[in-house]
Amino acid sequence: MTSQSLNSIGVDKLRGVGPQLAAKLHKLGLFTLQDLLFHLPLRYIDRTKITAIGGVQPLTEVVIEGEVRGNDVVFGRRRSLVCRVQDHSGLMTLRFFHFNQAQQQGLQPGTKVRCFGEVRRGKSGLEMYHPEYQLLNQAKPPALAETLTPIYPATEGVTQQRIRDLCGQTLKRLEQRGIEDWMPAALSNSSSNYSLVDALHLLHNPPPGTALNLLAEGEHPAQQRLASEELVAHHLSLLRLRQKIQHQAAPALLPNQAATERFLAQLPFTLTSAQQRVASEISADISQPIPMLRLIQGDVGSGKTVVAALGAVQAVANGMQAALMAPTEILAEQHRVNFEAWLAPLGIRIAWLTGKLKGKGREVQLAAIADGSAQIVIGTHALFQEAVEFHNLGLTIIDEQHRFGVHQRLALRKKGAVIDAAIDEEGSTPHQLIMTATPIPRTLAMSAYADLDCSVIDELPPGRKPIETVVLNDLRRNDVIERVRASCRDGRQAYWVCTLIEESDVLEAQAAEATTQELQLLLSELSVGLIHGRLKPKEKVQMMQAFKAGEINLLVATTVIEVGVDVPNASLMIIENSERLGLSQLHQLRGRVGRGSQSSHCVLLYSAPLSGNGAARLKIMRETNDGFKIAEKDLEIRGPGEVLGTRQTGDMQFRIADLQRDAHLLPEVKRMAIKLLQDYADNVDPLIARWLGHSEQYGQA
Ligand code: ADP
Ligand code: MG
Repeated sequence: MTSQSLNSIGVDKLRGVGPQLAAKLHKLGLFTLQDLLFHLPLRYIDRTKITAIGGVQPLTEVVIEGEVRGNDVVFGRRRSLVCRVQDHSGLMTLRFFHFNQAQQQGLQPGTKVRCFGEVRRGKSGLEMYHPEYQLLNQAKPPALAETLTPIYPATEGVTQQRIRDLCGQTLKRLEQRGIEDWMPAALSNSSSNYSLVDALHLLHNPPPGTALNLLAEGEHPAQQRLASEELVAHHLSLLRLRQKIQHQAAPALLPNQAATERFLAQLPFTLTSAQQRVASEISADISQPIPMLRLIQGDVGSGKTVVAALGAVQAVANGMQAALMAPTEILAEQHRVNFEAWLAPLGIRIAWLTGKLKGKGREVQLAAIADGSAQIVIGTHALFQEAVEFHNLGLTIIDEQHRFGVHQRLALRKKGAVIDAAIDEEGSTPHQLIMTATPIPRTLAMSAYADLDCSVIDELPPGRKPIETVVLNDLRRNDVIERVRASCRDGRQAYWVCTLIEESDVLEAQAAEATTQELQLLLSELSVGLIHGRLKPKEKVQMMQAFKAGEINLLVATTVIEVGVDVPNASLMIIENSERLGLSQLHQLRGRVGRGSQSSHCVLLYSAPLSGNGAARLKIMRETNDGFKIAEKDLEIRGPGEVLGTRQTGDMQFRIADLQRDAHLLPEVKRMAIKLLQDYADNVDPLIARWLGHSEQYGQA
């Protein structure tokens, strides 16, 4: 290796890069030659050959060559220059909306021209809009491209031509200096025979004949070689993050058998063995002086809350505080009610922080949190994002319900850091427990949650009857209404969920209001309630309390009830236009029933015709109640972006990898990452820097 490697040579050392261009490149995160090298093309076009016009496919980009047959200025909606070019096999129309006299004159009939552009099917057959073109009036036509032409990610203020040139210069230097390969050959047992250098050369400059279809799919071995390296780098960055946190000290919250037993003794049920297992994992974690980072995955209704409460009891028994953050007011309220019922007998004092708490009341709570008289604090995430001063926080519990992205999690953890500041004098970081209601397929969990240990509650409390799901055309709505009547007559309660396509709170609320009025009219003997996102937090909580108390028989709701609302007597759920919802959302909604001991039903109404995917989703819902199975199917149908939520994958920006396409690489990726940490620790930071380098993505938090 030469003395100066590419990651220490600035882009300004390249020919043609002055301060202005350098600044633009820096904005794109391109600081060094190594950054340029790993700035990989998004796709390729083929300008290595001339295609006969007769053989051109619409929607492809091609080079054609022919003779101008005529040109006209056409006055349509927009003035345009229309020019016809013919070769031995056919005729192509070129259309220019921006043109000048000289251009028009240049394209005289009889002139030979070479054009490059995307072909569309237009009014007059095949057309190219604004092709690049060259007049071929010299004796010797200019050479065609020797390699496929890479198209780089959009680079504002820097032309493709320029980026290509800079990458070309960089590749020359790569030849001279080489580059360190941080992935030792011994690490991989996959068969990709591309070296790092070869893979980089090929991707920046694919020789003619490279399988464009493989490149387009991201399945070329050179791409796969780099994709797996990139995934390893991401995985390592999460593991590093974890290491960083675990280098901090945490309070050792020792198990306290007496407190635990007192807590369990007054519960109205006994824990399932899955709950016991997860509870003991947590108990063991928090008894260590290293911050716990643990995720509890459990299907809806699997009883995550009580397991978290056990952790909180252990913290309190050690004289420390615990905080529970819920994603919504309704849930925060529900947690508070549960915790108070469970913990009052133990004499544990709970503070309560929500948006509706203002002024004096709020100050009182904040003071109790600060002086330690409150032992457990329950509230919404939003409230914890302000600086709440704790007396001595030992355990943070995040009930996320919907999965947050890595970033949001880090942000919350940073709030933890705000929180930490209060206890930093003792130099300790709280333990952290995250509960997530929507199971994640294993492979995805592996990459999205690599920084966390994972516990799974894979068992429902006993006595639960599986929810029976039927899928009905909404032409049968009246039958369904009768079914609601019958069920409520028997003393049960029901949900009626309205969904809308538009992402509009207002419209959704209006639709739900209209449905409420209609149902109240038809079911006049019942009390029909309504809850939607436009209600004030206080109104929502009141409505849920009324429903829980049985004062309301039928609750019409928008998808706001998706979050873990718990009303065991509700045993029937109707979801209108269920075909509009994704699988995990349907599963979450359905999880609101089937919480009591009587058998529960879910009616998925749809309006015909159903799309293929829509039908597939509803079929899965009918066939299984298992959230993990549903998550796997969801992944198959929709891909990881959707399954993890755009929020989540939005965080994970890959240059070349694609979580779904490359899912098969993940087990190997995980293995390699761990091996790198163990056996090649010095390679880890440079590898992360290479792929995640200057982006502020991870590491920072
Ligand atoms: P989730 O995992 O969806 O958050 P919850 O913690 O809200 O589920 O629990 C769902 C319901 O099951 C609650 O009413 C809770 O009290 C009850 N529950 C939890 N564990 C058990 C158990 N072992 N036996 C019976 N009921 C339980
Ligand atoms: Mg819950």
